[in-house]
Amino acid sequence: MTHIDVAIAGGGIVGSSTAYYLRKNGFKGSIAMFEQDTSFKHACTSLSWGGIRQQFSTPENILLSQFGLRLIRNLKEEFGADAEIGFKESGYLVLATEKGVEVLEENQRLQASMGADTVVLKGEELAKRFPWINFDGIAAGSFGPKNEGYFDPYSLMTLVRKAALARDVTLVQQAVTAVKNDGQIRSITLANGEEYTVGALVNAAGAGAGALAAMAGLEMPVSPAKRYVYVIDCPDAPEGLRKGPLTFDVSGDYFRPEGRNFIWSFTPSDDEEPKVKDWEMDESWFESKVWPGLAHRVPVFEAVKMVGGWVGHYDYNWFDQNGIIGRHPQVPNFYLGNGFSGHGIQQGPATGNAISELIIHGGFKTMDLTRMGLERIQRKEPLFEKNIF
Ligand SMILES: Cc1cc2nc3c(=O)[nH]c(=O)nc-3n(C[C@H](O)[C@H](O)[C@H](O)COP(=O)(O)OP(=O)(O)OC[C@H]3O[C@@H](n4cnc5c(N)ncnc54)[C@H](O)[C@@H]3O)c2cc1C
Repeated sequence: MTHIDVAIAGGGIVGSSTAYYLRKNGFKGSIAMFEQDTSFKHACTSLSWGGIRQQFSTPENILLSQFGLRLIRNLKEEFGADAEIGFKESGYLVLATEKGVEVLEENQRLQASMGADTVVLKGEELAKRFPWINFDGIAAGSFGPKNEGYFDPYSLMTLVRKAALARDVTLVQQAVTAVKNDGQIRSITLANGEEYTVGALVNAAGAGAGALAAMAGLEMPVSPAKRYVYVIDCPDAPEGLRKGPLTFDVSGDYFRPEGRNFIWSFTPSDDEEPKVKDWEMDESWFESKVWPGLAHRVPVFEAVKMVGGWVGHYDYNWFDQNGIIGRHPQVPNFYLGNGFSGHGIQQGPATGNAISELIIHGGFKTMDLTRMGLERIQRKEPLFEKNIF
């Protein structure tokens, strides 16, 4: 039976980043990444919007995303002169009704205290800056003119994974189907029947994280949440809107430019949450919910055509919709980087770095992520993020 010092289940942004930072931070042991589908066609990372922002309400989420931003800024130093992920620094705009202004301002104060450039705009100032928006019912908008925007998530994942593989990390194209746990993770079994003994196991299985934990007899509230993304052509959209921010409306609908088109989506309420976790597109949402909401908010969106779309599965943490990062409290060689619920592409690099520090040093070095551990879930003490989209 082959022995691997660190086995990583999942080769998306979290798995690839863990492997990459283990090497970068000096880990000398053997590392293997086990990925069930190296086309990554259903991975969260490939299907992501690739948004990065500082507009969070917890210090940890801001720090995690700032780490991702630094990596984007240093992409060429890190991965070579050809490294490119198409980062568009067009900002995020989060709209609020009168009721939401206080929270928006409270969040902005926290973000500013941590070096973010976000501002809360109101009245004339807001209307002048975003003239394509109908501000009916809107009291304020929080805007990040710098250090926020979107990039191609697949390209980032590929850069990180290739850099890890170039540093003596093995990629095994197999699903992990069984995990032996007797208080320590001892071994994993693959779909082809091969078994590996392991020094440590990293759960980087994205939407499959709860299922992987269950193989070890452990509970984790992470499973797929189905989301629809609609690709929209809007011939009359003005230039400002085409280069404008990723905008979140108070209705739960949101959009951003995507090349010559736009992408639209929405956050379903608990009752609307799709029950079936397949890959079938539901276009009825577009007609009944997203279009009316966005055409009201951005009048030029009255005349649009849906020209495509895709289904993605969020790696959803059903307990408090925040990442779960750390060692498993009862199984110390089982490491978790899961449950990001819509903000994991920007936080994947920092998560991989944090897990590498736990493995190498036995504790966090770059940032203290203690509050993000599974312990909070076992204690039933949620760490809510107020800005979840
Ligand atoms: C539609 C959509 C929009 C999003 N928008 C944003 C955004 O704007 N900004 C943002 O920050 N985040 C966003 N996210 C979330 C973000 O993409 C994810 O949080 C992040 O990509 C998770 O990375 P991961 O590596 O954990 O998971 P994944 O990329 O899913 O990688 C996990 C991998 O594990 C593999 N795997 C699973 N089980 C096993 C097993 N048993 N054995 C072997 N391999 C296994 C899977 O095949 C997969 O490739 C979005 C997600 C979606 C779906």
